[in-house]
Amino acid sequence: MRFFVFALMSAVLVPNAARAQEPDWTAAEQETITHLQAMIRMNTSNPPGNELPVARYLDSTLKAEGIETHLFEPAPGRAAFVARLAGNGSKQPVILMAHMDVVGVEHDKWTVDPFAAIIRDGYLYGRGAIDDKGMLSANLETMLLLKRNVIDRGQTLSRDVIFVANSDEEAGGDWGMGWLIKNHPELVKAEFALNEGGRTRIVQGKPLYLAVQNTEKVSHVVDVVATGAGGHASVPLADNAIFRLGRALAKIGEHREPLNVKPTTREFFLELSKVWPERSQRQAMADVASTAPARQQRGARVLASIPVFDAVLRNGISAVIISGGIRSNVIPVEAKATLNIRTLPGASLDSTIARLKTLVNDPKIAFNIVERGDDAPASDFRSPMFTAIADATRAVDPAMVVVPYLSTGATDSARLRMLGMQAYGILPFPMDQNDEDRMHGNDERVPLASLAFGTKVIYGAIRRVAQ
Ligand SMILES: [Zn+2]
Repeated sequence: MRFFVFALMSAVLVPNAARAQEPDWTAAEQETITHLQAMIRMNTSNPPGNELPVARYLDSTLKAEGIETHLFEPAPGRAAFVARLAGNGSKQPVILMAHMDVVGVEHDKWTVDPFAAIIRDGYLYGRGAIDDKGMLSANLETMLLLKRNVIDRGQTLSRDVIFVANSDEEAGGDWGMGWLIKNHPELVKAEFALNEGGRTRIVQGKPLYLAVQNTEKVSHVVDVVATGAGGHASVPLADNAIFRLGRALAKIGEHREPLNVKPTTREFFLELSKVWPERSQRQAMADVASTAPARQQRGARVLASIPVFDAVLRNGISAVIISGGIRSNVIPVEAKATLNIRTLPGASLDSTIARLKTLVNDPKIAFNIVERGDDAPASDFRSPMFTAIADATRAVDPAMVVVPYLSTGATDSARLRMLGMQAYGILPFPMDQNDEDRMHGNDERVPLASLAFGTKVIYGAIRRVAQ
């Protein structure tokens, strides 16, 4: 009787989520490592990619647990893979996505075999350990755990959880998410998507923050073309196109676009200012996050010394290619520089070009737009998905802050946001700058403790948002 009363009370008092049993994390961590090792050992360097063996591995692993799967071969050796855990339909689905391809390696610069998935001193080494097979494995483990710990225990998910593994992310994405959206849109329809693209940063030895990318800069390509009189190089001309281009580039190089603190960036610096270890930078972050223009400017001046922080505060202009001239004794009639301009979301490329034209103030300098990027709306950083990521992170490490993040790089998530999905980019493995820099570099590795941390965050976030 006493037992009965106690059981009844527990049922009433303990909320649904808490009643769900926590997974056996020791076993889950080992299983995640095993899957990551298996997938690193399948060389999916792109080009050529050859992701099909990884997709088959995912297919058989998930099928063996009774999970619905869809494997497509959009081109020989390439694969698009989708798996689904059905919810009760009361909420719209959530997508967990990662890519199967990796960038190539410079074999002789590695101290280990990049495709052997060796474990050494608490790290798992291998191409893709961070980008993006680490997250692929954590996503896979999340699916397995949700099946075993939720569905097989007779509980329900409030929304479908869709697992997507893409090909060709590192080389344009022709066989990846774009292919799925075009050919099987019904399989990838969702309210939320969790993708790569954020950061989890260890600063001065301590896991400090998890940055969730909810918006991104837009990349454009613009040619600056100078024209002038041509002729024999033996007779110097004041109208020389190369000198003209040089004068224009000198002005553009000195130019700084106006400060523009987006809502995501304000929140990013506001939260970081509470925990950032260095005092003057901490103050600068608080200044930028304030609403007083003079304080914002003061803070931005201090943060300008950190290029990645400066880049989220204004549009950025990088000169990337220069060309002109045909031979050493001829003054050419044209010289050209290519600029990569990254505008903040919602900012106008045309306004930037207008500012540059005024600045250069030369009718013989033309600005030609070669490629105009697509601007996508920001995903809401107060949505249930964002909150779920934040709660899941704090459940693993209460000291960490979770901040929204405007990435300077462009990702697949923009494509999803344009379709009306709320997409979020994470890289949930705590890393210091050194380990993070190995991404696309040599001796790429993930700390095993960070892999475990990230798996818990992803599982916890999906468990919460699909509750
Ligand atoms: Zn990637």
